[in-house]
Amino acid sequence: MRLLARLPGVGEKTAMRFALHLITDAALARELGASLVELPARIGPCERCGNLAELSADGQVRCSICRDTRRDPTLLCVVAKIQDLLAIERSGAMRGRYFVLGKLLSPLDGIGPEELPLRSLVAIIRSEAVTEAIIATPPSVDGEATALYIARELSGLGVRTTRIASGIPHGGDLEFADQITLGRALEGRRRIGE
Ligand SMILES: [Zn+2]
Repeated sequence: MRLLARLPGVGEKTAMRFALHLITDAALARELGASLVELPARIGPCERCGNLAELSADGQVRCSICRDTRRDPTLLCVVAKIQDLLAIERSGAMRGRYFVLGKLLSPLDGIGPEELPLRSLVAIIRSEAVTEAIIATPPSVDGEATALYIARELSGLGVRTTRIASGIPHGGDLEFADQITLGRALEGRRRIGE
């Protein structure tokens, strides 16, 4: 019960409902337990982009989007977190691939530039056919600061850096934006940096 209630979005009432159900369905409880034990060994961050990936037979940890050869290799969409990637995927407006930062610059929380995985991002841009980096960080103070910082860091790499258009309210969360708004924000992206 206490463990279930520690999951995001699961309050005490829901945890109670889960627990009561699992008591009556021992087979489900066993199956769930076994698959949870395996979870960290089978699923991890994609080595290339940081999205969730399943360990494949060849030992590579690449997500399905990075593996998908039909994706446009010239477009790279930079997002703050995996939930934002999933929201943009649902909008269907992104034909390229992604890069998940994992965090945003936040001077108030003591998160400085050295904590962003900029080196991996630059390595992808240098070694792949990326011509446009679309910065899709949220329209918050931290999101804007991160976008400007990345645009500066990418200038001189010969890549066009764009920022998704507003339409998502300031301080809003990409994760909870509807698909049409997200699609429009991507289509209306503008160039930032040099
Ligand atoms: Zn990936």
